[in-house]
Amino acid sequence: MPDVSLYWFRDDLRLVDLPGLSAAASRGPVVPVYIRDTRLGGEWKIGGASQWWLHHSLDQLTRDLNTLGVPLILRSGDTQTILLQLAEEAGASQVYCSRQYQPWAGELERAIHDALEARGIALKRYPGTLLHEPEHISTGSGTPFKVFTPFWRACGKAPTPQPPIPVPSISAPAGAVASESLTDWGLLPQKPNWADGWETMWQPGEAAASIALTQFLQNHVQHYDHGRDVPSEPNTSRLSPYLRFGNISPRQVWHAAHAAKLDDPGVSPSIDKFLSEIGWREFCYHLLFHFPTMPDEAFNPKFTFFPWGEDLQRLKAWQTGQTGYPIVDAGMRELWQTGFMHNRVRMVVASFLTKHLLLHWRAGEAWFWDCLLDADLASNACSWQWVGGSGADAAPYFRIFNPVAQGEKFDKAGLYTRHWVPELAGLPDKYLHKPWEAPEATLAEANITLGQNYPHPIVDHKAAREAALSAYATLKDI
Ligand SMILES: Cc1cc2nc3c(=O)[nH]c(=O)nc-3n(C[C@H](O)[C@H](O)[C@H](O)COP(=O)(O)OP(=O)(O)OC[C@H]3O[C@@H](n4cnc5c(N)ncnc54)[C@H](O)[C@@H]3O)c2cc1C
Repeated sequence: MPDVSLYWFRDDLRLVDLPGLSAAASRGPVVPVYIRDTRLGGEWKIGGASQWWLHHSLDQLTRDLNTLGVPLILRSGDTQTILLQLAEEAGASQVYCSRQYQPWAGELERAIHDALEARGIALKRYPGTLLHEPEHISTGSGTPFKVFTPFWRACGKAPTPQPPIPVPSISAPAGAVASESLTDWGLLPQKPNWADGWETMWQPGEAAASIALTQFLQNHVQHYDHGRDVPSEPNTSRLSPYLRFGNISPRQVWHAAHAAKLDDPGVSPSIDKFLSEIGWREFCYHLLFHFPTMPDEAFNPKFTFFPWGEDLQRLKAWQTGQTGYPIVDAGMRELWQTGFMHNRVRMVVASFLTKHLLLHWRAGEAWFWDCLLDADLASNACSWQWVGGSGADAAPYFRIFNPVAQGEKFDKAGLYTRHWVPELAGLPDKYLHKPWEAPEATLAEANITLGQNYPHPIVDHKAAREAALSAYATLKDI
């Protein structure tokens, strides 16, 4: 009898550098399965834009496995029940997987381990999509890090991440195992199809991830250090959705980046900066693992009673890119139309929501969760808390981005803003980021009537800044 294994795909939708899959394949035939368990995650169930990426990643993985002669089995329902059923159907004596780090993952994996073990089936869990396991990096006193710089220094002293392993030679067992249809899962938007055209902007899946990494390291990384904050230029990798779904592993990124450094030592500072951003991703996972309430509660308890506002009209204006601050509106429209937003602009819009509009960071976190292709529980929660001032190693709350100054500094020539806010395209650079200061004649020449085809600013920067600082002052009494 062949020694059949299940490989349970999760946030690791690729074939290269998957130690669990290689281990399973080396034992005998493998039944790869992806389970859609809509009960997992509570309010952090996968959002709309991410479902689009998931659909296409699964579609691509199915094709990649088919070329090896192995079908991907899709099942929906309770994860534990399905793994038990499928192991029985396939006659599998072990289930392999990569671990996950969300607050519910550990308990789920323990329960599945025990249920499988009771039937004589082993659960073999391998490291997930991180460079270092969260338990392996700690302060001198054995506690989790709460500050990025010493965390990343400790990662640098930890054993080098394992080099990526190639696609294993893999075979399927004799006999068909039933699968559901991906199309029936309805992961793609239908009416309306708000993702229309996304397939021309994004190619999810493993092969495209590898191309994106190679092209970034060959053509763009040299500009990363100085140019990563300019949203109109292609100086960042745009690898985040690939990393989120495990179309590529951070180990692959780490090793490719180090190889590029050896090839051209001149790009070392830029590559180190890029790797430190991969380090921020790692840090966010470290924090989520050790502080599982991060997506829901202020990390700094002082912020628990912060006087957040509840103005839904303001929230709507922010979500739809109608705040009257051009760089903020450009970012929010980029997000809606492409499922992505440049990091600098993410910081600007997040600061605007939490400080100018005094709305809760959780409202922004939830909107990003639904709209981002790379929506990631760890990075999203930590970044929102970081900008909002309540997070670990956070930007101090009193550091309030001026959206006009941010626009003028990082989108000086206005390429980004004019692209996403085309009604302002005719304004001269001098007024692009503050149309309310433009003389009537200049506005008329650019076909702009404030309040009609572009909004007046919904808050005054100076007054909003003062209101934010007064709200912040209330924390001092706690
Ligand atoms: C309010 C807010 C919310 C965010 N939500 C998410 C999210 O849900 N998912 C997500 O992946 N990133 C999130 N980020 C972080 C960051 O904006 C994106 O990772 C980055 O813009 C992705 O673009 P890139 O792949 O071109 O990044 P690059 O600059 O090329 O960086 C390489 C990789 O490093 C990681 N990375 C870069 N910056 C950060 C960061 N600040 N924190 C954590 N990881 C980082 C990403 O995996 C990224 O792909 C958020 C940032 C902010 C300010």
